[in-house]
Formats: sequence, structure tokens, C-alpha cells
Amino acid sequence: MAKRDYYEVLGVNKNASLDEIKAAYRKLAMQWHPDRWVSGTDAEKKTAEDNFKEAAEAYDVLSNPDKKAKYDQFGFAGVDGQAGPDFSQGFGNLNDILNDLFGGGFGTGFGNFGGFGGFGGFGGGSGQSQRVYRGRDIRTRVKLTLEEIATGCEKEITLERNRPCPDCGGKGAKNSSDIKTCPQCGGTGQVQRIANSIFGRSITYSPCPQCGGEGKIVANPCRRCNGTGLERKRETIKVKIPAGVEDGMQITVRGEGHAAQHNGVNGDLLLLIEQQPHANLKRDGQNLFYSCIISVTDALLGTEISVPALDGNYSVKIEPGTQSGTVVKLRGKGLPAVSGYGSGRGDLFVKILVWIPHKLSRSEKEALEAMRNSSTFTPSLTREDRTVFDKEKNIF
Ligand SMILES: [Zn+2]
Ligand SMILES: [Zn+2]
Repeated sequence: MAKRDYYEVLGVNKNASLDEIKAAYRKLAMQWHPDRWVSGTDAEKKTAEDNFKEAAEAYDVLSNPDKKAKYDQFGFAGVDGQAGPDFSQGFGNLNDILNDLFGGGFGTGFGNFGGFGGFGGFGGGSGQSQRVYRGRDIRTRVKLTLEEIATGCEKEITLERNRPCPDCGGKGAKNSSDIKTCPQCGGTGQVQRIANSIFGRSITYSPCPQCGGEGKIVANPCRRCNGTGLERKRETIKVKIPAGVEDGMQITVRGEGHAAQHNGVNGDLLLLIEQQPHANLKRDGQNLFYSCIISVTDALLGTEISVPALDGNYSVKIEPGTQSGTVVKLRGKGLPAVSGYGSGRGDLFVKILVWIPHKLSRSEKEALEAMRNSSTFTPSLTREDRTVFDKEKNIF
């Protein structure tokens, strides 16, 4: 199942304070804690458990400044593997959790959920917080060369997205006086429904159908946007891509997605990194690999080769008697780590391959025949040779 954005899960905007994040989580934890659903159907229990875990994971990340910062910058990729509390030992007692989180005082009134009708009296209640409108996210791919990845870069990205209407400033009406309090909900944006459920009598709130939860209706809609407050626009923006990103990584650019209705919170721009193939270099994590083919005579007599690294060419000395398969390491000539994910740079590994000529002239043949039985040409492996050949043999 695709994960929902953590801000969306908690229903808070990106600038929400820790208190707001806590309050939003408290509300969801109260609503979905599995203890409350023990007598529900299997489907209800499953939904409750999923929602509870989802809220707990979102809270775990957004309440931690370090994880939140990584999530803000890289999205789920930034907190992958470290997100979410461990539920392997069960969900914990609901009161314990709430006491832990919110400093006690929950033991008495909330010990028996079956006994009270609705959450209306508690911390603003489940239905009474303002609905946060959030614009949709925009997903797009960004192709990067290894050179761009090595240094980080700035990319121009063209987007078709909803922006606030310039005529009404996103309000949907030309004049403020055209915006009137909704008659159906009296401006609260919500309608109440009283129901009897397994937990007793409860009050549920849902967004008002007439005003869509806004609490206000537009008497004379803006002509330009027909009252939506939005306008489709094609825009080109510049986005900074940090160095060291990897193929498949997703970068979240906060607030660069679609604008929301009712002047809500912008969606995000989600950039999927696509690394373009490189002519000479291969990549594995932070390390780079380059293969260099040299002649038999260069391998025998020694030479100097030029290695095209990402920041320029490096001259590498090939010692006389170099075996095919020898690997030379250029320390620190690999890629940097993505900021916040380790440190230092990877290395560039150069593999030396020796090319054997397919045809020889008569005189070359004669010269080599003379060497065929020389003890110099009889294989006698040194320790270094064994290291090289063992690595080669491991392929089979
Ligand atoms: Zn407008
Ligand atoms: Zn209304």
C-alpha cells in the first residue's frame, strides 16, 4: 500500500508546532487505538490497527526534529528503515501511551471508553479542529549525469500546476464582502451526527456538504477562476539537488506542488532521481569503477595511463609486470555521501585489463618462440598475483 504523506496523515501543515503535531496525534491515537476496537468486526480491527500504526509512524518522524528535517528534505527515502515505533510487543496500554506522551492525567476519564459519548469535551474534540486543505503533490523525474551527482546541481523544472488565482488571491471571490457565512453549518464547517455504536452514544462530525468544510460560501464567485480560487499555470522553477543522490531516490521539495483550495497548504514536488548511464564509469553506492585496456607490451614494460575521473583526468602509473585484472584504487575520487547520510567520499577503482593481439608478424612470432621456453615466461605466482587471480576466479 502506498504510504500517505506524514503531514497528511496527521492533518497538520508543514509549519505546525510540536504542540500541534502532538495534539493531532493524540486525536488519532484516541480514535484508532486497538484497545478501543476489541469488539469491532475483523475489518474494523484491521482498519483501526492500520490507522493507529500509520499515525504512530507519522508522529514518530514529525515529533523528532532530526527525522523531520530528513523527511522534509528527502521524503520517505530520508527516514526509510528508521521510521515508526516497534509494535512487535503489542500496542501498549492506551493510557500508558497517552500518559507518556502528554504528561499524565489520562488515567481516570479515559479508562473506560465505552462509557462516554463522543470526544467533544476533550482538547477540542475529534471533529472540531479546522480542516487543513492540502494541494496535491506533483511527481516528476529528474535525469542527472554522474558529474551533476558528484557536485550537486541546480535543475530547472517545468511544471503544470494549480496556483492561487491572481484576481481573487485564492479566495474565490472578488471582494471580501462576497464571502458569506455558510447558512447550513453556521460557519463551523461541520455538521453533527449522533449515533449509537458499540461504544455507546457518540457524536460524529463531518464536513458540511454546502460549504465543503470551509464555513463560508462565495456569493459572487470570481469570474477568472469560477470561485475555485485556483488557476492552472505552467511554471519553471529552479531546484537544488544535493550531491551524492542515487538512482531511485525521491527528493521532496516542500510546497512546490499544487496550491490547495481555500488558501490551504501547497502540495509537494516529489522528484524521482534518475541517473543517466555514463560513458566510462560505473557506480556502486559511493564508489566508481573504470576499466582500462592496455597492451601486452605496456603490461610487461610498464606505462602511464590517463583515468577520466569525474573532476578531471588522473595519470596512473602502471608498473612493469602488471597482471591483467589488477585493480588500482584512486582514494577519494568517488562520490560524496548525501548530506546527513554518512561522510567522506567513495573511491574510484581502476581495473587493468591486458589485451592479447590476435595476429603476429613472422618476426614477432620468431621472437616470441625464442621466449616460449624461457623460465621468465613460466607462470610462477607471487602473493600479489594470487590476490589478483583469486578475485578473477571468483567470477566462476
Ligand atoms: Zn479567482
Ligand atoms: Zn457549511
